[in-house]
Amino acid sequence: MKLRPLGTRSGFQVNPVSIGAMRFPTDVVEAVGLIRHAIDCGLVYIDTSRGYGESEFVLGRALKDGYRDKVILSSKCSPWVKKVQDGDDGSAASVRRRIEETLVRLEVDYLDFYQVWNINSPETWATATRRGGMVDGIRAAMAEGLVRHTGFTTHEDPQRLLGYLDRADWAEVILVSYNLLQRDYVAVLARAHELGIGTIVMNPCGGGCLAENSAVMMSLAREVGAASVAELALRYVYSNPDVDTMLCGMTRISDVDDSAAAVARGAFTPAQLETIERFFREHSREKVKFCTGCNYCMPCPAGINIPGIMGLIYKDRVLGLRRSAMAEYRHEWVIGRPADQCLKCGACEKKCTQHLGIMAEMAYAHRTYGVK
Ligand code: SF4
Ligand code: SF4
Repeated sequence: MKLRPLGTRSGFQVNPVSIGAMRFPTDVVEAVGLIRHAIDCGLVYIDTSRGYGESEFVLGRALKDGYRDKVILSSKCSPWVKKVQDGDDGSAASVRRRIEETLVRLEVDYLDFYQVWNINSPETWATATRRGGMVDGIRAAMAEGLVRHTGFTTHEDPQRLLGYLDRADWAEVILVSYNLLQRDYVAVLARAHELGIGTIVMNPCGGGCLAENSAVMMSLAREVGAASVAELALRYVYSNPDVDTMLCGMTRISDVDDSAAAVARGAFTPAQLETIERFFREHSREKVKFCTGCNYCMPCPAGINIPGIMGLIYKDRVLGLRRSAMAEYRHEWVIGRPADQCLKCGACEKKCTQHLGIMAEMAYAHRTYGVK
């Protein structure tokens, strides 16, 4: 597999597929075998976190016997995503404690990258970059050789993020979510690339929903010569020259092999990419006159994340991804409170920019996706 530069600031070269360390198998021996298999296949960039359960410990075991020297190892933290101790406040001192702890958990002397985890608002950007803040703490660790490079991960609004990028002279990489169903970071990836910041993509398969071979999505896959929806999704991300590498979550050996094989089938041609863009124009929320995710209906007094649930209905009804919709309906961070908690107050429908029958949709969602 042809390597790509991880931006120009870091000096690293990476495989277009990298190791996302959030979903390793729970059996440690199995996990170690899986990680080593991925590294043997040439996947060298590893993204873990203090917040990914036992991931750092398992990697510590896997990276013995010479494997440490073969990889680019990255971990991350931030107190607004995971507070490990009461004193975690985003200061340089607190990030230093987390770095030292991570080095012990991973059983390594240094980290290739230590990143600020999820800058998701102007407040968290300010906390991370203020004098004596997280970035200063990471820089101090870099001066001592505990960390070699840094960057940040983010789900921030793309427009605001573009504003941060020009001030992020300290960042050598950025990690954003990008896939067939979430393409709003295209300009961010392009600008980061222009600045020499390495671009790493998370969720290339839409958090797993693009692993579902629905009839609608398979018709698109076949049209562009992909054997599965997952291959379509991975090759779509690979086809963007502003993406340096993508993190693939790995639970089974076949996850590694399938991801590597998909990318090995190559980038899509401009004509194939136009076919994909046309498909999504024709199936866009605007075109099918469904929820645009504008958020005007919020807040809901029952605590329901109306746009989140409408997003599941869109994926199911328009793209045929029902299994994924059912899986996502179990997650509170997607739906807030279950849709059957609707009080039928009607407040949302009065504010809906698309004049949708939200109450009926909530009942439909719970009836369809809430089945145990
Ligand atoms: S009608 Fe139901 S979903 Fe809409 S705002 Fe009221 S409680 Fe929330
Ligand atoms: S106001 Fe209507 S279109 Fe906007 S997020 Fe709510 S349901 Fe969707």
